[in-house]
Amino acid sequence: MWSKEEARSKKQEVRGQKEKARNESCFSPHASCLFVVSAPSGAGKTTLCRKAVDYFSDLRHSISYTTRPPREGEKDGVDYHFINKKVFQKKIDIGEFLEWAEVHGNRYGTSFNDIKSLLEKGLDIILDIDVQGARQVKVRSHGPVPAGFKQGSGIRSHKVFIFIFPPSLEATKERIRNRGKDNRETILSRLKNARSEIKEAVWYDYLIINDNLEEAFEKLKSIIVAERSKREKMIERVKRLYGEVLE
Ligand code: ADP
Ligand code: 5GP
Repeated sequence: MWSKEEARSKKQEVRGQKEKARNESCFSPHASCLFVVSAPSGAGKTTLCRKAVDYFSDLRHSISYTTRPPREGEKDGVDYHFINKKVFQKKIDIGEFLEWAEVHGNRYGTSFNDIKSLLEKGLDIILDIDVQGARQVKVRSHGPVPAGFKQGSGIRSHKVFIFIFPPSLEATKERIRNRGKDNRETILSRLKNARSEIKEAVWYDYLIINDNLEEAFEKLKSIIVAERSKREKMIERVKRLYGEVLE
């Protein structure tokens, strides 16, 4: 029979172990994949990411926060969480973003909590973010953690960086125009930024030229399948199946 003191300490120990297991499974480096996709405007990144989420049932798109006004047809909570500058600033101040950046004159950010809750569900995530945000995710593996989170609980998932190129800068212009949702000034600013964004592509893991949409999607699918099949990702599952043989 345990004394009350022993029972309490046992309970605490179990609670601690559970919490540790929860943190480890959620943030384990290999339990889930974080696909970070960047591209200059008009390259087809949104189209490709949407196709990927439709295709893979356990892949989710993280819905970003932005101060950009909605384009025609865009829905709050579906395409973005549309918020004003003051609310965005507050979220920065309380450390709510895993990353954020100012892009084409508006602010965009990824919620740390949204990512955490998707990872906790065992889902893979596709982040459609600009090159500045992608850099922050890249260096954030074991770095500082937003307020309210324990040190060491940063996003340590397996990260894969994918850059989508338009077939040419000329094609980009055409695509943004044909999309028909941006005014002339916005289009010019996006084209101006395209060159500096393309320069960043050199440190990404995979480069896809989106000339033909179906071919580009085949490449994106192959990358996702290959990354999910890596030893680090598969080994625990394989051990559960063949533990005895592997011992
Ligand atoms: P991004 O998110 O990179 O700004 P979008 O996905 O919104 O780009 O695509 C911009 C426009 O280009 C859309 O109208 C889309 O339908 C079109 N598009 C995407 N891929 C291709 C492609 N391979 N060929 C022709 N048009 C494309
Ligand atoms: P758009 O206004 O065309 O939807 O997006 C403009 C740019 O902002 C794109 O390059 C897109 O990838 C990027 N973007 C969207 N959400 C985020 C985000 O949460 N963080 C960052 N850093 N960039 C984002």
